Amino acid sequence: MIGGKDDDLVVGLCMHMELVPMPAPTPTPIPHPFLATIGDPSRKAAKAVGQPMKAAADAEDIDERPVTINGALCTNVGTITKNSSALPHMPLPPGTGWAPMPKPPKAMVGILATPPPPDLPVCPAGDALMDKGSGAVNFGDGEIVRLGDTCASCSEPARQVSTVIAIPLGPPVLVLG
Ligand SMILES: [Zn+2]
Repeated sequence: MIGGKDDDLVVGLCMHMELVPMPAPTPTPIPHPFLATIGDPSRKAAKAVGQPMKAAADAEDIDERPVTINGALCTNVGTITKNSSALPHMPLPPGTGWAPMPKPPKAMVGILATPPPPDLPVCPAGDALMDKGSGAVNFGDGEIVRLGDTCASCSEPARQVSTVIAIPLGPPVLVLG
């Protein structure tokens, strides 16, 4: 299966609680499309800054080099992707605003070194946690996420299944496992 990387798509459907005036504002679940491009700005920055510095110091460790697919950082289980990269959630009619709702904690999986911070109750988290990947193949630090793997987008009251759409930007990198 095709390996996932930065700027690949995550698509799915969330339910989010909105206030619907009828006549008193009532919390109501309303379906929202979930659309994001994979990417973690802090990883990109670390790659942009860290690699030239290490190369200059001649201290590059082959185990620490970022693994790329078609020139983009590969996507490992544990990556968190924000939908602000593509289609941020916005209240949809007939709702007029978000209904505050406690958010379930994200699982600590894959390359996450620390538990992700809790999501604010006031609005949707607007993110997806890549929590599924190849059980057999690691790219760099962790399991590689592949085309068709599911992930956990920010639906309420429990996270929902969205899907990774990996699009080759060159020779496809196939993960055989
Ligand atoms: Zn959502």
